[in-house]
Amino acid sequence: MGMRIGYGFDSHAFKAGVPLVIGGLKIDHPEGLAGHSDGDLLLHAITDALLGAVSAGDIGTFFPPSDMRWKNADSTVFLETALEEIATAGYRIVNLDCVLIMMRPKIVPIAGEMRARVAELLHVSERDVSIKAKTPEGLPQEGTAVAHVTVLLESIAGLDEPKKLVAEIDDPTEVDVVVRTLMGEEEPHNMARLGRKPTFDTDDLT
Ligand SMILES: [Zn+2]
Repeated sequence: MGMRIGYGFDSHAFKAGVPLVIGGLKIDHPEGLAGHSDGDLLLHAITDALLGAVSAGDIGTFFPPSDMRWKNADSTVFLETALEEIATAGYRIVNLDCVLIMMRPKIVPIAGEMRARVAELLHVSERDVSIKAKTPEGLPQEGTAVAHVTVLLESIAGLDEPKKLVAEIDDPTEVDVVVRTLMGEEEPHNMARLGRKPTFDTDDLT
């Protein structure tokens, strides 16, 4: 089974007077995160990890900050686009591991709620989402807000099989026998007419 790994990083500065949103969760705090969008650094890092896993560029490729459409945008829009990209590439999420680095607000008391929200947005089980919190030791204590995310994807079963069929049969007469066999007009054992065993498993083509 094909697997792909993706990694995402993001950081934003704190800013007074704007709402704080992390992992799609609105958090009661005197400062929010400055950004062109809603500043949700965790969803931005997850979006980059997903896009990176299928080599589809990064969040800036799809949503350039110069585009006014994304001013104050809800970052779940970015995430949905990344989910569409991985589905189009034939992959789905296995699990993700996230690290948030900030002094305030304290993430640990709300990590469970945040995990549930991220799982809901990604359409995965909560047990496939890990959110870890660290204090910024050796970094500026005030104003540091950083997210790191690693995601693992697996190929969606069955998608690769028809591609193999096209790639491995180049004689038109063989194609005819294979098609009639798949349509049920020819018994599978007649595949022996091809002079070799079929290189695919017809049971996998449903
Ligand atoms: Zn960001």
